[in-house]
Amino acid sequence: MGSIIILDEKTANQIAAGEVIERPASVVKELVENSIDAGATAITVEIKNGGISYIRVTDNGCGMEGDDVELAFERHATSKIRRIEDLDRLNTMGFRGEALASIAAVSHLEVRTKVASEQAGALVKLEGGKVVSISQTGCPTGTTIVVKDLFFNTPARYKFLKKDSAEAGYVSTMMVRLALAHPGISFKFVNNGQIQHHTPGNHDLLSVIYSLFGSETAKAVLPVDHEESGIKVSGFVGKPETARGNRNSQFFFINGRTIRNKVLTAALEDAYKTLLMQNKFPFCVLNVKTSPELYDVNVHPQKLEVRFSNENAVYLAVFHGVKGALSSASLIREVTSPDYEAAESAAARETPPPQVEMASLERPASKLPPPQRFPYPWEPAKRADTGVTARFEPEKQALPIIKPVSQNAEMTEEPVRDPAGPQEPAEPVTEAEKGAQILREAEIVGQVFDTYIILQRGQTMYLIDQHAAHERIRYETLKKRISEGQTFSQMILEPYIVKLTAEEYDFLFSRMADFEQAGFEIEAFGPQTVIIRSVPDIPGGFALDDFHEILDRWIETAGEKRGISDEAIYMMSCKSAIKANRKMEKDEIKALIDQLLSMENPYTCVHGRPVIISISQRELEKRFKRIV
Ligand code: ADP
Ligand code: MG
Repeated sequence: MGSIIILDEKTANQIAAGEVIERPASVVKELVENSIDAGATAITVEIKNGGISYIRVTDNGCGMEGDDVELAFERHATSKIRRIEDLDRLNTMGFRGEALASIAAVSHLEVRTKVASEQAGALVKLEGGKVVSISQTGCPTGTTIVVKDLFFNTPARYKFLKKDSAEAGYVSTMMVRLALAHPGISFKFVNNGQIQHHTPGNHDLLSVIYSLFGSETAKAVLPVDHEESGIKVSGFVGKPETARGNRNSQFFFINGRTIRNKVLTAALEDAYKTLLMQNKFPFCVLNVKTSPELYDVNVHPQKLEVRFSNENAVYLAVFHGVKGALSSASLIREVTSPDYEAAESAAARETPPPQVEMASLERPASKLPPPQRFPYPWEPAKRADTGVTARFEPEKQALPIIKPVSQNAEMTEEPVRDPAGPQEPAEPVTEAEKGAQILREAEIVGQVFDTYIILQRGQTMYLIDQHAAHERIRYETLKKRISEGQTFSQMILEPYIVKLTAEEYDFLFSRMADFEQAGFEIEAFGPQTVIIRSVPDIPGGFALDDFHEILDRWIETAGEKRGISDEAIYMMSCKSAIKANRKMEKDEIKALIDQLLSMENPYTCVHGRPVIISISQRELEKRFKRIV
């Protein structure tokens, strides 16, 4: 007897289900994408037991006609394409017409749906993909789908599910991604009866970030808006202090789809070079818009991975976009009382900001109020009707530079200008320029512990770590000279003779051109011994005592590429930078600050540690309990 059979429909659906439906999060993704395609402006997702026993997705989209509902659960049933050519102009999320059939095949499913033009809606129940009842029901326009007992009839798949809490975590992450990708839709996510996130759907991405991640994150992000070679990059990146211990807070989207891609991650992280400490990863929500012909999303069945045909251009667009955002911002870290911040962020997370009109499920989309910007807790409470309490009021700060950049319009104060003058320098434009101007004009109060410089300006005190500042100056100076092909060499009075290991010796001579480019003049001087006649000329001098260490670091990080590794440049800049514990006179301090402020990034040393921190007068008053 032959062994080939045609699978019955039910089995075929169950097998196909495995491709799209792996776990509750994939059910949620498919259902929510259908709601988005149906034009919903408000979507609620509720799960119980990680979504294994219960998933509900409710939307206020167009709904389905009674006759269509049953059809929607047939394999290859779709309203989105009619013929293959339609695929080219498709901008809906799904189109294969498989999701509903696949989900229904492995669950107990109920759908309630109504179109605006009908009085009554339809209620259809399915078990393992078979329709068991159809009836009329009263319900608002839109669709509610309830999926129960996922994989009840496919034990093998059921066994692969993780603990409820882990599955709930996947759903939550999926919801975060969907909400970030669609700021115009209000998403509510309820897990075991508790609201986890609720976004306002007011078309403002910062509002979404605020409602998902809380006020500390929303306060510390910088806007990105950049276009290059037809690639548009927009969104937000976190200031260095928001960096996390892993990459879970990096969200990338291509034309509205959530994706993962190594090129994007690399571009982002390269733009943060020297701004972050080791094993810290920046926060980002970045949308990349480019022509769909330039990438392929079908690499992975979950459509998460993409491949670009023009990787280099994409890399550069993201790198420049992020770098631009970082360099135009003032990244001074403000010291604030931990208890105050904790109270503020806990309060912010618990309740979505008060009295913000969420797009309501019951209301037809056309009657929704016009998009309204979310009141952030740090905004001035000028809108009496927002219900933002005084606790959330920002302090009246003399300096605009520590405010979130996006708040400029409301917060910026005129920079203090010297009325004297025609030779006045160009008006500062970016936050970074304004910040630099303020520090340049700040009064030098002095130095403490022979290590930290104290400045004062308006209601803010600034502390500068002199070693970190010097290290930054040396790094950028050296790096610039090397990349511009200029060699600044300094002859040493007494040539320095140094004995090397065989490896060091070979490396040095195989890379002599690179050493010369850096400013060294070195000759052989007997077996495994060299004589150093000149060294790189960098501010603060070059310490030959550290030659071995620099050389070793260079060997370690050299790789295939010619040229000096960044790590070797870090090492040169950090060695013999003004050591902590050195008394400095005021004019020396002034010179150091001026030099620091002419750097591209004056805010961190090359290891990502802060160079400048600020403490407001108000903060000090809080610490001394003059105010609470
Ligand atoms: P696809 O999304 O690929 O078309 P699905 O199986 O996900 O396939 O959905 C089948 C069809 O059911 C859709 O094309 C759409 O017409 C209809 N549909 C599904 N979900 C909804 C919804 N929430 N609101 C309105 N129509 C829906
Ligand atoms: Mg679909």
